[in-house]
Amino acid sequence: MLRVSIILFYFCLLTFNLEKALPELPEVETIKNDLEKVILNKKITAVIIHRSSVVKEPSLKKFKSLLLDSKFRKIIRRGKLLAFEIITAQKEIYFLSVHLRMTGQLVYGSDDPKSRVSFKLSNGFYLCYNDQRTLGELRLVKDIQALNVVKNMGPEPLSKDFRVNDFIKYISMRKAKIKPLLLDQKFVAGIGNIYAAEALFISKIDPARNACDLNEQEAKLLFKNIKSILKKAIKCRGSSFSDYRDGHGNKGTFSNNFYVYGRKGQACLVCKDFIQRIKLGGRGTYFCPGCQK
Ligand SMILES: [Zn+2]
Repeated sequence: MLRVSIILFYFCLLTFNLEKALPELPEVETIKNDLEKVILNKKITAVIIHRSSVVKEPSLKKFKSLLLDSKFRKIIRRGKLLAFEIITAQKEIYFLSVHLRMTGQLVYGSDDPKSRVSFKLSNGFYLCYNDQRTLGELRLVKDIQALNVVKNMGPEPLSKDFRVNDFIKYISMRKAKIKPLLLDQKFVAGIGNIYAAEALFISKIDPARNACDLNEQEAKLLFKNIKSILKKAIKCRGSSFSDYRDGHGNKGTFSNNFYVYGRKGQACLVCKDFIQRIKLGGRGTYFCPGCQK
């Protein structure tokens, strides 16, 4: 009996993990907006590292000594990456980049003993980096643009750099399936499994179609819907399908608005057909066969 329970437990864990949703642009933007209100101009009075493996560069000693007594000046988001511009005690500018990956969280408040890295601030509060799976990355660098992840990143979908004509042209040249293409951060930054699936649903496009087979009208509609869904999700403070929490440790509510994501076997909210889940580019992909052609 015990063995069956253990096997069942691991099976559930495995199934659940397949659907682990990573923080995407709206979630990271929400964290940025939350933290901007509380940590800017605060000094770091202690750096407490519980799990050194999440600090990727520089050495732990340098990481600690540079951050101690430095001040948060600005927070920048680029795609799914968050970067804190800091000024050190020696008046040098550095960037603390944080990639949350799968289970990373940045929460402002009291000290969390389960955090991987905690920054004590001059007002007595803490900025805690939590990361159950420790797949996230913290880097303290002089030049944020020089980071490979930033160098190779495509345009920000909510900026003027994301242009409809470029989008149409690029799509028309790519044989890749449209859904995995949307997840390619070199193509457009910040979109992940959730918002790609939802944007394709609203645009009535089958995620398995080749990008180059979309007509101009479909590409235009997809472009428009990518922007609108990201904006809506930011308004809802993101989607807490799995581990995501905002800068205060609370859940986002956009998950209540999902049409397809995580709804395998449930009735489509538009046509009542059943939502299906297939694998595309190694990722679980939800869609409605009735609505998406
Ligand atoms: Zn449908």
